[in-house]
Amino acid sequence: MSSRTAPRVWIVSGPSGSGKTTLCEALLRDPFWEKRLLRSVSVTTRPLRPREKQGRDYTRIPEAAFLELLKKKAFLEHEKIFGAFYATPRSILEKAGRQKKDVLLCIDVKGAATVRRVLGRSRVTSIFVVTPGARALVRRLRQRSTESKKDIEKRLRRVKIELCHMKRYDYIVINDVFDEALGKIKAILTAKSCESH
Ligand code: 5GP
Repeated sequence: MSSRTAPRVWIVSGPSGSGKTTLCEALLRDPFWEKRLLRSVSVTTRPLRPREKQGRDYTRIPEAAFLELLKKKAFLEHEKIFGAFYATPRSILEKAGRQKKDVLLCIDVKGAATVRRVLGRSRVTSIFVVTPGARALVRRLRQRSTESKKDIEKRLRRVKIELCHMKRYDYIVINDVFDEALGKIKAILTAKSCESH
């Protein structure tokens, strides 16, 4: 998207079950955006889910190794969510710079706040994905069946916290009809990268 040395950073956040990860994956399957965006693979201490692949969806490492990397300042941001650590590797910025790509982060609201603070708002554009109503969110979370009942309830409680951060985002996309939501995200990226300044 740019020949700048400092890549632009796009953040997509939203409550569990909002569809943000699926939207990011679909965005990266589009040949136009695939050439322009580099998705950060987060480092986590959470065990991988059955369909997740090490190095593709997450880089899963033991907690001791995570804390070691944290000490070495290897992360741009990190958070503890649902009892596990999640972090964005700092190296993604150099990697994207070398490839002349922008960075796509699919991270939580607190991590997003850190990235805005560290990199400055002018470099960061944030999009918050929500479902049209709480009922749809609960349904999607329950349908996912990758988590236990207790975990699902924990995630639903966190939704409230995440929604409080919504107004700090540059854009809000309601994920009712998936293709329309994806179209809106592409439109935001296109318009933002055509800005005159
Ligand atoms: P999940 O366990 O459902 O994959 O992710 C739980 C939450 O962690 C989601 O809100 C997801 O966006 C967030 N997350 C994933 N990777 C990162 C990361 O590197 N940093 C932060 N702060 N949050 C992350």
